[in-house]
Amino acid sequence: MARRPDVLVIGAGVTGLTTAVCLAEQGVPVLVRAAEPPLATTSAVALAVLMGPSLAPPDEAESWPPIETMMRRHREGVAEFAALAGRPGTGVSVMPGRWVSHRAQDVSWARPLPGHRPCAPEEHAGFAEAFWLSTPVVDMPLYLRHLTGRLTAAGGVLEIGRFESLAEAAAQAPVIVNCAGAEARHLVPDPDVHPVRGQHVVVENPGLDTYFFQFSRAKAMTMFMPHGSRLVLGGTATRDDWSRTPDPVQTEEIISRCAAVEPRIAEARVLSVEVGFRASRSAIRLEEELVGGTRVIHNYGHSGAAVAFSWPCAREVTRRALHPAHA
Ligand SMILES: Cc1cc2nc3c(=O)[nH]c(=O)nc-3n(C[C@H](O)[C@H](O)[C@H](O)COP(=O)(O)OP(=O)(O)OC[C@H]3O[C@@H](n4cnc5c(N)ncnc54)[C@H](O)[C@@H]3O)c2cc1C
Repeated sequence: MARRPDVLVIGAGVTGLTTAVCLAEQGVPVLVRAAEPPLATTSAVALAVLMGPSLAPPDEAESWPPIETMMRRHREGVAEFAALAGRPGTGVSVMPGRWVSHRAQDVSWARPLPGHRPCAPEEHAGFAEAFWLSTPVVDMPLYLRHLTGRLTAAGGVLEIGRFESLAEAAAQAPVIVNCAGAEARHLVPDPDVHPVRGQHVVVENPGLDTYFFQFSRAKAMTMFMPHGSRLVLGGTATRDDWSRTPDPVQTEEIISRCAAVEPRIAEARVLSVEVGFRASRSAIRLEEELVGGTRVIHNYGHSGAAVAFSWPCAREVTRRALHPAHA
């Protein structure tokens, strides 16, 4: 970018890129600077299904924003992704999936949703609660490429580099948007942010065209999501674990849990094992502060639902950035 950007966005995951696209498409000169490129972020690892309320982290659902706020953001996110569904190159589609849980109260939020249909007894796979729901789903590597293309088409710039502090970033533009994900714990610093490590196994898709999603606040759950020739198997959720190294025991356990539901998975060829870090926080941080006289707008702490919330949060940040009086 030849001249100083009006807005500097920290982070090139789904939150940073979506925010930058919103700003750039409004004509704002935007620079995105990120330590990791889009395909190396946690965002590239996400499953990704769009069900905000269901994806609160283990042990923390009670302290999340009220369900009305979650459902409003969820509706807005679903509407944005539904509009993208089927457009070539976006990686977004609408897919039917089976939602399961051992506890009825954990999935009661879904009953009023349009298209909710209880599963037949043989479809329960051993779970007390099971229902079908069609939702937008996102092939994240494709979608992150789509966002990057949209950003550059709108004149935005993406560069790779780490900031050691917010003060360092604040010296570079009049407005900073902080979309650092779990790393916000160190960058801000914000001790309210905790990493919740998740591991996925990607296998060759043996022909599945619906997904399976266990709602659970436990450390291990059963889920699989077809994205064309890839099938993403999950999952795990371990708090305060920063290990990027795939755990072979977890890999075996993930495959065997998924194969117990869908036997074709047992023989599927493993393509990769991926690890990401959800930014767990008592609430999403969407607020502004001054750092050395520079406006810093925070947009992190979305835990297991940043994809679902990416558009509603990006639009809110864009309103704040363009109209400071609304902050
Ligand atoms: C296994 C798993 C499954 C998931 N499934 C779903 C799902 O189905 N649906 C859903 O909505 N969500 C899901 N999530 C959650 C989702 O992946 C995250 O909420 C989301 O990726 C967070 O996006 P982000 O852009 O905020 O952060 P990230 O993707 O973590 O990106 C952060 C960016 O900030 C940059 N950065 C950090 N610190 C610095 C620094 N100091 N200087 C410069 N750059 C910095 C990083 O390099 C990176 O570019 C899942 C997560 C995991 C781990």
